[in-house]
Amino acid sequence: MNIKDRIGELKNEMIDLRRMFHRHPELGFEEWWTQEQVVKYLTGLSLEVSKIAGTGVVALLHGVKPGKTVLLRSDMDALPIEEETGLPYASEVEGKMHACGHDGHMAMLLIAAKVLKEMQEDVPGTIKFIFQPNEEDAGAYRMVDEGVMTSPKVDAAFGIHLWSQIRSGTIDIVDGPQMAASHYFYLTITGKGGHAGFAHESIDPILVASNIVQSVQAVQTREIDALNPAVIMFTEFHAGSNTTIVPEKVRIKGSIRFLYEGGDEILRRFERIIAHTCEAHRVSYELSFKVGNNLLSNDPEVAQIARETATEVLGEASRVTTKIRTMAGEDFSDYLQHAPGAFAFVGIANRNAESDYPHHHPRFTIDEEVLPAGAELHVRMALRLASP
Ligand SMILES: [Zn+2]
Ligand SMILES: [Zn+2]
Repeated sequence: MNIKDRIGELKNEMIDLRRMFHRHPELGFEEWWTQEQVVKYLTGLSLEVSKIAGTGVVALLHGVKPGKTVLLRSDMDALPIEEETGLPYASEVEGKMHACGHDGHMAMLLIAAKVLKEMQEDVPGTIKFIFQPNEEDAGAYRMVDEGVMTSPKVDAAFGIHLWSQIRSGTIDIVDGPQMAASHYFYLTITGKGGHAGFAHESIDPILVASNIVQSVQAVQTREIDALNPAVIMFTEFHAGSNTTIVPEKVRIKGSIRFLYEGGDEILRRFERIIAHTCEAHRVSYELSFKVGNNLLSNDPEVAQIARETATEVLGEASRVTTKIRTMAGEDFSDYLQHAPGAFAFVGIANRNAESDYPHHHPRFTIDEEVLPAGAELHVRMALRLASP
C-alpha cells in the first residue's frame, strides 16, 4: 500500500471527523460523547478497544510480524471558551470550544489507526492507540495510574500537537527539553494578629510575605544559570480585612516553571528563602507543592527518527526544524517518564485559512490541509518504532 495515497483518499473522512468533534466540544474528564464516537470508530476497525481513565480510550492493533509495542497518543478535551470563528461547523455547545486543536489530533489518529489496520500484514509488534482526557489540566496521570504503559509494556511513545506558532507545511521536533515543567505552590504565612496602632505587639505577616515575593526573584536571576529557562510567578496574594487590624495570616499561590533537566532544584531554593525569611521575622509558614506537568523532554534517538520520518512525509528536509521550545506545559511528559519517545509540533499557521491565532483564542482554528501529514507521520512512526 502507498501510505500517502491511501491517506489522501481518506482526507475528506478525516476532515469530517475533525468537524464532528469540533461541533461537540467537551471539557476535561467529561468527554463522554467524544469517547463514544472514538470507541465506535475503533470498534468498527475490529481493534481491541477498552475504556480507561473515565472518558479515555485505548485500542490495540496486533501486527502480524514480531516487533515492539508503540504508543500513539491523542488528547480529547476542549476548553471553556465561547467560539468566535463563525465557521459553519463551529461549536454547538455554549461556552465550550475546541480551541487547542485536540479535535484535529483525534481525527489524525483515528485515520492512522484505519490505515495501520489495513496494513496489518506488514505491521510489526503492537500499536497502542490512546485517546486521553483532560490534557488541559494534566489528565495523563490517570491513564498511567490505570496501566496504560503496561500490558503490553510500551517500548516507545509518540505524540503530535498541531501548532499555530509555525507555518503549515513544517514540522518541528527538538532533542531534549521541549515543553516546561510546572509546579504550583501554596504558601501560608502565620504571624500574630493585633491592632495596627501597636505594631510591636503583633507580628505583621504582610511585611514578611512581601519580603519573600521580592527575595525569591534572586533564585531566578542569581542562583541558576541564565541559560536555563525558569519562571517563578506569584499569582494570588490574600490577607487582611480592615485598615486597623494586623492580619494573622497571608495566603499566597503561584507557579514555578522550568525548561531544563534538574530544574527541581528551584523548589528547594525557593523553600530555603521562605524558611530563612520567616525565621528572621519570627513567623511560621506552611508550604506545599503540586506537580502540574513534568518536563517534556524528547529522547534524542526517537526525536531523530521522528525528524527523518517527518522529512519523508513532507518531502523536503528544510521543512523539518528544531526550534520550538516553550514554557507551556504538556502532559505527554507523563508517558515519557515510563518509555522513551518524542513529541512533534505540526505547523498549522496559514493566513489564508485564518489558522494563525494563538492556541486558546476564541478565533483559533486549524488548517485542515495539514491533517494528512499528521496522520502519515503517526503511521510511519508506528512502523519505524515497532520494527524489531
Ligand atoms: Zn491547550
Ligand atoms: Zn493542546
